Amino acid sequence: MKLYNTLSRSLEEFVPHDKNMVRMYTCGPTVYNYAHIGNLRTYISEDILEKTLRYLGYPVTRCMNITDVGHLVSDADSGEDKMAVAAKREHKSALEIAQFYTDAFMKDIEELNIKKPDVISKATDHIDDYIRMIKKLLQDGYAYEANGNIYFDTEKYSNYYQLSGRSKEDLMVAVRDDVEVDQFKKNPNDFGLWFTNSKFDGQELQWDSPWGRGYPGWHIECSCISIAYLGEYLDIHCGAIDAIFPHHTNEIAQSECYLGHKWCNYWVHMEFLNDATGKMSKSKGEFLTLSLLKEKGYEPVIYRYFCLQSHYRKQLVFTYDSLDMARVAYDKLYHRVQSLEPVSGEELDRDMMEVFRAKFKEALSNDLNTANACTVLYDVLKENMNDTTKHALIEEFDQVLSLDLTKKKEKKIDASFAAWIEEKINERKEAKQAKNYTLADQIRDELFSKNVVIKDTREGTIYEIK
Ligand code: AMP
Ligand code: ZN
Repeated sequence: MKLYNTLSRSLEEFVPHDKNMVRMYTCGPTVYNYAHIGNLRTYISEDILEKTLRYLGYPVTRCMNITDVGHLVSDADSGEDKMAVAAKREHKSALEIAQFYTDAFMKDIEELNIKKPDVISKATDHIDDYIRMIKKLLQDGYAYEANGNIYFDTEKYSNYYQLSGRSKEDLMVAVRDDVEVDQFKKNPNDFGLWFTNSKFDGQELQWDSPWGRGYPGWHIECSCISIAYLGEYLDIHCGAIDAIFPHHTNEIAQSECYLGHKWCNYWVHMEFLNDATGKMSKSKGEFLTLSLLKEKGYEPVIYRYFCLQSHYRKQLVFTYDSLDMARVAYDKLYHRVQSLEPVSGEELDRDMMEVFRAKFKEALSNDLNTANACTVLYDVLKENMNDTTKHALIEEFDQVLSLDLTKKKEKKIDASFAAWIEEKINERKEAKQAKNYTLADQIRDELFSKNVVIKDTREGTIYEIK
């Protein structure tokens, strides 16, 4: 298995620390809002990575955190806790916000056929671990107290700039984020481990600590949660490219200074999904969610298929036109697989199975080339071999791709999509009554483009989803 490692900026052969268990950590969502489809692209790629490793025969333990405290509005440790901002916005408590958006996130990942990580842990459940790590960092001189807060001293860790490959000056977070530098930091890149004295009052979630009542910084959460469940040696750590600096850079610094040795060998970063206007972000207000796609009639698996057509290290621009193209391709593929007629007990062409397995593995073990892995599905369908073998192979490959290709689907549709269809049918009826047949035909075509086939009957217009 070859993986691109941000740490070395090269493709590397993947060798786990312990061949009996791959330990994988993926940064989870900050649950102050719905996940946008950019976040979800990252979770789809991480899911493919985990499933590929399992398909190649590695046992895997994967852990993910839920950030429900400490992620401030700016990466430069300024601004309010994102949870507090959401609590005010929605007139709820921070914990209610966290629960609501965690549930929404779990539903999104389930609908996208993303396997639940083996361990999912909330940041607020590990306060003792943060205190233990911070105490040791202070004791060993890697951290200092200023203005009631505890900061990590980045000057004390010589590899601090390795992961990002950038210089100290390039990385001044405060400059990048265009916020005021915290005057109490010795170096602007130093970061908060524990806050007792942030500029914002009314931080709801606070705990006692040896340094006063306060709350943890965001980065320490991932280090401690990872070490708590996966131990001192981590094989793979993932996130999108925005996490390289400062989040993952800071995770490495505090973990390695705490542990006294190298912590994680492979850092895998996913490129962004952008919309036509540029970066997609939750703080922009209106943003693209999986529910919105469903309301517009796209099944979540179409979005998954769309993501798999591009490489995880390439930026992907989201447009409804390209999603429509993915839908057409997916529907064709799905129907071809569904029209196979496997015969129970029929002999499988074992030699051909090995040939295709090798191709499929080659695509995925080449730094997760999912587009090529999908091409192997078409090759299987085209090959001259019995349907039983084709079906068995596609079912096997779909354990990794998770596109529901061999699954019979109930035609369940989203309630708001159903309401939209009814609305369109009414508009068409009115257009026909007004003898505006061009408009009536346009509406029928619009419905058809969303896989809705209508039929006029004596009882009225009925519809069917293709
Ligand atoms: P957050 O919930 O903001 O902590 O982000 C959850 C995950 O989504 C992190 O791994 C981020 O790095 C990643 N992410 C954020 N924005 C995007 C984007 N536009 N495209 C892909 N991944 C993203
Ligand atoms: Zn993290």
